[in-house]
Amino acid sequence: MDFALNEEQRMFRSMFRDFAAKEIAPHAEDIDQEETLPPAILQKAVEQGFLGATLPEAYFGAELDGVGYAMLVEELAASCVSFAVMLATHVSEVAMSILGYGTDAQKEEWLTSMAAGEVVGAFALTEPDAGSDALALQTRAAADGDEVVLDGVKTWVANASIAGLFLVFAQGPDGMDAFLVPGDAPGLTVGYREPTLGLRSANFHTVYLEDCRVPAANQLGRPGGGWEIARQAQSRMAAALAAAGLGVAADSVQVAARFASERVQFGVPIAQKQAIQGYIADAMIEVEALRYLVYRAGWLTDQGGDFAVDASMAKSFSARVASRVTNSMLQVLGGYGYMEDYPMARKYRDARALGIIGGPTEVHKVHIARQAFAEWDVEIVP
Ligand SMILES: Cc1cc2nc3c(=O)[nH]c(=O)nc-3n(C[C@H](O)[C@H](O)[C@H](O)COP(=O)(O)OP(=O)(O)OC[C@H]3O[C@@H](n4cnc5c(N)ncnc54)[C@H](O)[C@@H]3O)c2cc1C
Repeated sequence: MDFALNEEQRMFRSMFRDFAAKEIAPHAEDIDQEETLPPAILQKAVEQGFLGATLPEAYFGAELDGVGYAMLVEELAASCVSFAVMLATHVSEVAMSILGYGTDAQKEEWLTSMAAGEVVGAFALTEPDAGSDALALQTRAAADGDEVVLDGVKTWVANASIAGLFLVFAQGPDGMDAFLVPGDAPGLTVGYREPTLGLRSANFHTVYLEDCRVPAANQLGRPGGGWEIARQAQSRMAAALAAAGLGVAADSVQVAARFASERVQFGVPIAQKQAIQGYIADAMIEVEALRYLVYRAGWLTDQGGDFAVDASMAKSFSARVASRVTNSMLQVLGGYGYMEDYPMARKYRDARALGIIGGPTEVHKVHIARQAFAEWDVEIVP
C-alpha cells in the first residue's frame, strides 16, 4: 500500500492550491457578504479547465482522476466552500450524469459547453415536501406529442441563478424520470433565493416549472430510470462534499495555528498554552483521518464498482469533522473567531451545511447501516 501522492498528483495539488490562494481567497469575505459569485472568478476557474474537471478530453475536459478531483474540491473549499459547492454541483451531479446516461447527441449538445463554462449545471431533485424522501417528489412529467410537460416546484437548487441547464427529476408513468431542461425553457422560472446561515455566495433558489415544455429527446436515461441517476449523482456529490469538508477543516487549522503563534496573552503566544495545543492536535488528528477516507472515496469512484457506502462514510465523517474542527478553531481565535472580519466565522457557518446538503447525515447512515446488516438479511429502510 502506497500512501504517497504521485508526482502528477503533487503537481496538480500545488496548482489548485495556488489558484485558490490567488484567485478565490482574497475575495472570499466580500463575495460571502455580497451573497454572489462574480462571473470574473468563475471565468478564471473556466480558464483552468475546472468546470470540465472529470470530463474526458473528447469534450475538452481535464480528465482528472477521482483523487485529483477530490484534491481540487478540497483546495477550493479551503478558500471558499460556496465555490466548491458550485463546482461539485456542476461537475459531479450534472455533467457526470450526462456522461454516464446521456445519448451521444445529449453529450455533444451539453458536455463541451459545460467544460467551457458556457453552460453551468444545476441539480433539481428536492421539493418542499420531498427532502430526504426524494422518491416522494410531486413534480409531474406528462408526454404531449414529441414534447414533455413538466409541472412542479423545486427547492434548494444550487447554481439556479447562473444555470444554463437544469437536471430535473419528475414523476412519469414508469416512475421517476430525469430531464435536461435548458435554463431558457418556456415555463421554467428561477424564484426565491433561500437565505442561508452559510454558503452565502452559492445560489440556492426555488425553481418553478409551470407547463414547462422540453423535447421528449431531453429525457436522460430510460423512462423510470431517474432514481438510479439521482442516487449515483448523489454518491458522487457525497464524495465531493467530503473533500469540501476536508478543505475547510484543514484550512481552519492553519488559520488557528497562525493566529495562536501571534496572539500574545499572559506574556506569551497562546500557542504555548497546553489547552490551545490540545485543540490544534485533536483537529489535526481528525483532519488526517478524514483525508484518507476522502481520497479513498475519490479513488473508488474510478474503480468501476459501487462506491455509494464509502462515499456516505466519507461524507458523514467529513460533515462531523468540519463542524467540530471549525468550532474548536473558532474557540482558539476567541472573540476574533466570532467576528465576521476574520474568516473563521464564515468557515464555521459554511461547514455546518455539510451535514444537510447532498442528503443529511442521518440518511447516509441508513445506507451505511444497510451494509452492516446485509449478512443478517435485516431490512433497513430510511
Ligand atoms: C445548502 C443546501 C444546498 C442544497 N442544494 C441542493 C441542490 O442543489 N439540489 C437539490 O435537489 N437539493 C439541494 N438541497 C436539498 C437537500 O438535499 C435537502 O435539504 C436534504 O435532502 C434534506 O431534506 P430536507 O431539508 O427536506 O429535510 P427533511 O428530509 O425534512 O429532514 C429533516 C430531518 O429529519 C431527518 N430525517 C428524515 N428522514 C429520516 C429518516 N428516515 N431517518 C432518520 N432521520 C431522518 C433528516 O436527517 C433531518 O435531520 C440543498 C440543501 C441545502 C441545505
